[in-house]
Amino acid sequence: MTTLPLPDMSDPLASPHWQALSQGRIAMQRCGACGHVRWPAALSCPECLTEGGEWNTLSGRGTIWGYAVYETPLHPEFAGLCPYAVALVHLEEGPMIHGRMLDPPEELDCGLPVVAVFEQLADGIGIARFRLEQSRGS
Ligand SMILES: [Zn+2]
Repeated sequence: MTTLPLPDMSDPLASPHWQALSQGRIAMQRCGACGHVRWPAALSCPECLTEGGEWNTLSGRGTIWGYAVYETPLHPEFAGLCPYAVALVHLEEGPMIHGRMLDPPEELDCGLPVVAVFEQLADGIGIARFRLEQSRGS
C-alpha cells in the first residue's frame, strides 16, 4: 500500500483524466470549437472560452521542456530513487504535464523526445512516468 498522496478519483471535472491513467493512457479535453487541448481540466477553453469539450486519448509522446533533479526525495517513498528527475513534458498535442523520468538524470536534456510509461500506484489508480524515446530508425 502506497503512502503517496493520491488523486481524487471522484472529482467530476478531472476524473476522466485519472480514470484514463488507470487504464494506461493519457486523456485530456479538446475544445469542440477551436481544437485546443487543455490541461488541467477546466469547464471552458482557455483559448476561446467555449464551454465543454470532448475527452480524447493523447499519444503519450512529447519532448522534455525542462526538468529538475532531486538529490533529496520529495516523498519518503522516493528515497531509494535519488537522484531522480521530474520533467515538464511538452506533449505533442500541446499541453504540458509533469512526470518522473525513468532514465538517469545525466542522460536527460531539454528537447529530447519521451514517451509515457504507466504505473499502478494503488488499486484502480495509475500515473504516467516518462522515459526517453528509443531511436525509431535504428
Ligand atoms: Zn477553444
